[in-house]
Amino acid sequence: MIRLYIDTSLSVGLSQDLSSDQAHYVNNVMRLKVGDEVAVFNGQDGEWLGQISSARKKNCTIQLIEKIREQDSCPDLMLVFAPIKKQRLDFIMEKATELGVSDFQPVITQRTIASKIRSDRLCAQTIEASEQCERLNIPVVHEAVSLVQLVKDWPQERTLFVLNEHGGAKPILEGLQEFAGKEIGPCAILVGPEGGFDPSELDLLAKLQNVVPLSIGPRILRADTAALAAISCWQSVLGDWQVPLRKRFEKEE
Ligand code: SAM
Repeated sequence: MIRLYIDTSLSVGLSQDLSSDQAHYVNNVMRLKVGDEVAVFNGQDGEWLGQISSARKKNCTIQLIEKIREQDSCPDLMLVFAPIKKQRLDFIMEKATELGVSDFQPVITQRTIASKIRSDRLCAQTIEASEQCERLNIPVVHEAVSLVQLVKDWPQERTLFVLNEHGGAKPILEGLQEFAGKEIGPCAILVGPEGGFDPSELDLLAKLQNVVPLSIGPRILRADTAALAAISCWQSVLGDWQVPLRKRFEKEE
C-alpha cells in the first residue's frame, strides 16, 4: 500500500484532493484506480487508511476511512552537516531520514564548498524518504547557519557529538556508551565537509559545555559515510533501535 504525506489535519470521512505530483504518481506511476486504498499521514495525526474516491488524468481525490496507526515520534537527534556536493547530499538526506533523524541543520564551515543549498529540494527528499520508510513524522530542515553562529546560539541542553577526523577523539561506541541508561535529552551529530574541519573550528567547538568529540574508526570516511555510520551507532546505543519493528498493518481479509 503506498503512503502519502498530506499537509492538512486528518479525520474520518475527510475528502482531500492530492497535489498534481501525487495525483500523477497515484494515477500514472502506480496506476491505482477508484476504490484502491492508500495510507495517509501528516506528521501529527497518525496514519490513516484512505480510499481513492475519484481519479482523472491530473487529479485524484481520496476519502479517509479510519486511523490505522497512532502518531509516534523519532528520538530528538539533529544531524548538523556541512553541505557537500549534490548527489552525496541527496544521499545523506534520504538515508538519514530513513535512519530516524528528527532535524537537519546545514552549517557553513571554513572549508564548505557547496554553500548554496535549496531547502525545498532537501525537504522534498525527506518527505519522499519518510513515505517510503513508514515514518509518521517528517524531519525538520532548518536554514543554514555559519559554524560561528551555530556555536553562539547552541542550546546547552542539546549534547553535540562532533565527528573529529583530526585524531585523538574517543571511539564512538565508548563515547556514546557513557550516556547509555541516562536521561540524555536532545542530541546532535556534527559532520564536516569534504575538506574536513579547520583546527580552529574544533577549538571553537571545544568551548561548548556539552560537546563530545568522537572518532569513527581508523579510516577517513567521506562525509556521507561518516554521517550515516555515526547515526547508526547513535540509534543502536541511545536511540530507538532497541525497539523491535512493529507488526506491519495488514488489512484483515
Ligand atoms: N579532512 C579529511 C581528509 O583527509 O580529506 C576529510 C574529512 S571527511 C571527508 C568529512 C567529515 O567526515 C569530517 O570532517 C568528519 O566530520 C567526518 N569523518 C570522516 N572520517 C572520520 C573519522 N575516522 N573519525 C571521525 N570523523 C570522521
